[in-house]
Amino acid sequence: MATNRTFTMIKPDGVENGHIGAILEKITASGFRIVAMKLTQMTKADAETFYAVHNERPFFGELVEFMTRGPIVAAILEKENAVADFRTLIGATNPADAAEGTIRQLYATSMGENAVHGSDSDENAAIEGAFHFSGREMF
Ligand code: UDP
Repeated sequence: MATNRTFTMIKPDGVENGHIGAILEKITASGFRIVAMKLTQMTKADAETFYAVHNERPFFGELVEFMTRGPIVAAILEKENAVADFRTLIGATNPADAAEGTIRQLYATSMGENAVHGSDSDENAAIEGAFHFSGREMF
């Protein structure tokens, strides 16, 4: 069953480059309601667990290193068709392929350092949201 929530992170590059405000503005202007949000930093164990699906991939070590090097903004977002619409809003994984006006086209610098995360399924949105937030942090 499709749900109406997705999970996002403004990744360390997006925070370092001063894009928190612009990215949140784009998200809320696109009709997403913020259900939960915080500035936090992932530990190595957190990143290894969060990205466990990629642990055999050649970029895994670099990804864990990158995702733990500074704070992120984690958030749960709500909107009808949230997962698919948010993937459209962020654009392709590689910013060189991301559509005009998408968050990654505007703010990402490379395939690895691509400014934002967006869940790829309703199931993962629920798992990832629960990874970062307790029930009492969701509104
Ligand atoms: N990634 C990378 N190199 C690659 C593919 C992915 O560094 O060749 C990183 C990138 O930060 C990406 C994350 O791993 O956002 C997760 O990859 P996925 O294929 O799930 O892309 P996404 O769903 O984030 O677009």
